[in-house]
Order: sequence, then structure tokens, then C-alpha cells
Amino acid sequence: MNLEEKELNELFKIADKIGSKRYHKLTHQDFENYRKFDYWRYVNGDYECGTTQESKTWVRDNSDCYCPICGDKYFEKGGKTIDHKLPRSQYPWLSMEFKNFWVICLMCNQQKGEMHWYEYEHYIFVRYPDYYIGVKVARPSYLLQSLKE
Ligand SMILES: [Zn+2]
Repeated sequence: MNLEEKELNELFKIADKIGSKRYHKLTHQDFENYRKFDYWRYVNGDYECGTTQESKTWVRDNSDCYCPICGDKYFEKGGKTIDHKLPRSQYPWLSMEFKNFWVICLMCNQQKGEMHWYEYEHYIFVRYPDYYIGVKVARPSYLLQSLKE
């Protein structure tokens, strides 16, 4: 096992540990944030999904013209979306945690679906090795470190 794999393995363990600890202690605020994201989410041009002025501004400030995964222009891939690096279904208390957000294209978001980040990294590594660097760079290490503290 090389150092990279060791680091990944370590982060997996942290995520699982936080997951089992927090999942059973969801607060009222966690539920509110979970719902808040439904109004806050950003789907380019689709107001039915609840894009707000705040989320529009956030997306503008946190993205450029190209999807960080596939490297294509957003408008060629269905537009910009906010994705949770650690999925809401498994980490509901991170619904409105900005360190858990990144802007990716609609097509990459649909493909990522509800995959756990590390499952996703593995998926990209195997299926789209050319995209792997972009995904690895965005690894939520900082988020996990901050949760650990
Ligand atoms: Zn993309």
C-alpha cells in the first residue's frame, strides 16, 4: 500500500466514524438545513429547483466556465449544479455545509448521484482515468479534518 492509498483509507475511516456518530444525533437544525438546501440548490436556469439569489451568487463566486471533473464548458453539459461531496443521503447534517459543496456540471452530477465520495473517486479512477486528477484535487480532506476537530 502506498502513501496515497493509506491517506485515502484513513479519510474513509474518519468519514465512517463521524457518520455513525452523527447519524443518530440529527438535530432540529439539521432537518431545517436539509430542507433549506432544496430551496437553495442551484440548477442552471431551472428555477423550479429553487435557485435563490444567494445560491446564484455563491455559484458565480465558486466556479468558472469549466466543470472541474470533465473539463468541459458547463453550458455544453447541462449547466452548473451544486453538488455535495459527501452526499446528503448519508451526511444529512452537511446539507448546508459550504465546505461540502462544489460546482460541477449537470451531467457529472447525475453520474455521481448518491455515491459516497470515496466510492466515486474509485469509480472515476477505474472508468475515467483522465478525470481522476480533477476529482482527487477536490477531495474533501479539509472538510473531514474540520469535522474531526
Ligand atoms: Zn462535468
